[in-house]
Amino acid sequence: MPDSSVSVPAEVLKALQTHDRILIAAHANPDGDAVGASAALGWALRMLGRETLLYNETGFPDYLGWMRLPCPLLRDLSALPGKPGLIVALDSGDAGRLGEELQTLLKEVPVVNIDHHQGNPGYGSAANWVDPAMSATGEMVGHLAEALGLSLEGALAEAVYVALASDTGSFSYGNTRASTLRMAARLLEGGLDIASVRARLDNNWSESKLRLWGRLMSEARILDNGKLGVSIVSRALLRECGASREDAEGFVEQLRKIRGVRVALLLREEEREGSIMTKVSLRSSGADDVRKVAAQFGGGGHKNAAGATVDLPPEKTLTVIQPYIRHVWN
Ligand code: 5GP
Ligand code: MN
Repeated sequence: MPDSSVSVPAEVLKALQTHDRILIAAHANPDGDAVGASAALGWALRMLGRETLLYNETGFPDYLGWMRLPCPLLRDLSALPGKPGLIVALDSGDAGRLGEELQTLLKEVPVVNIDHHQGNPGYGSAANWVDPAMSATGEMVGHLAEALGLSLEGALAEAVYVALASDTGSFSYGNTRASTLRMAARLLEGGLDIASVRARLDNNWSESKLRLWGRLMSEARILDNGKLGVSIVSRALLRECGASREDAEGFVEQLRKIRGVRVALLLREEEREGSIMTKVSLRSSGADDVRKVAAQFGGGGHKNAAGATVDLPPEKTLTVIQPYIRHVWN
């Protein structure tokens, strides 16, 4: 039974019903919500007998490699058999996050933009459904599937669960609403094997991830009288641990656990086209707004979880970002 407190915009339903060959895309370097929302929408459209394509510029992360996908994932648009009739963009606060390669197609094909990031400018040319009150884009896709007459079952339910659990910290962050939990209840009523999905999500670490987290824990810096927790993930550290960039995913949450820490900051060194950059991840709690910090550097996200990419090495990024972080608690 759909949730009567939520209404899916009619223009979104209409666009999905009138166009075929629907290309589903989410932000590059996708998290559990981006992957879960993409897979869930793909399953929903497939259950309705629609021709569907799944695309992500950087592919899906290995730790979600066990998820069932409705069709093979494309990483390269040159593999597309002709132009799609519609693009559905998921979990992307701005069009740029979908990746360089998709930008031309976004201007040529009607776009439906479904997202829960505050500040999303509404770049969908066919329809926009942007609701920052939604816990996850996967929650929106769940409502959409139900509005299309589907029950949340099987691989569709698994994908919605991954999205919800990923963006709500397994139903613990402030974005968890009664309607989020009602959707989770419908997933269980539809037969979701929650223990089995959780085991695949949780008991899935590589040894290199364990070693990396050990090093990050012992080397974490606690600054600003205990209010700021910082970790730097350098490429050298990843090499020493035999770890991948994906292995650092989620560590920023550990820094937030430290008593007194109000802002957790993870700085990951990246090399792009020969220059060194830093992927910034910020976390906070309650009224402390880190999205404003990320926005100063061209990034975005949510009040308590935000990110950006800065054109400087990690140590320099720390120096530049620290004064903005101090505004969070001042
Ligand atoms: P994470 O730190 O896990 O990469 O991202 C936390 C939140 O910030 C997510 O909602 C994510 O979509 C958003 N975010 C991360 N990096 C960027 C970025 O470079 N630009 C924007 N607009 N949002 C970002
Ligand atoms: Mn999300």
